[in-house]
Amino acid sequence: MKEIVKKYTNGEMTIVWKPEVCIHSRICWNNINGLPSVFKPMEKPWITMEGASTDRIIEQIKKCPSGALSFYLNNDPEHS
Ligand code: SF4
Repeated sequence: MKEIVKKYTNGEMTIVWKPEVCIHSRICWNNINGLPSVFKPMEKPWITMEGASTDRIIEQIKKCPSGALSFYLNNDPEHS
């Protein structure tokens, strides 16, 4: 079975999200140490790239416990 992969970009970086891997920990979007200006599970698309800086988004992605969220920089030659 093919894995579902969703991508969201702000031109500088791309967030890669694997919905089947997400364990709905709420870490990315809670109000205390999450980033609710970017990760909005009640909206479609659920990720708003304009909600924070690239550095802040990367910091948040690194806290995802399941590996559902990952990223790459768009100028990374491996992804061009
Ligand atoms: S932090 Fe990762 S596992 Fe938790 S809700 Fe967000 S994407 Fe899903």
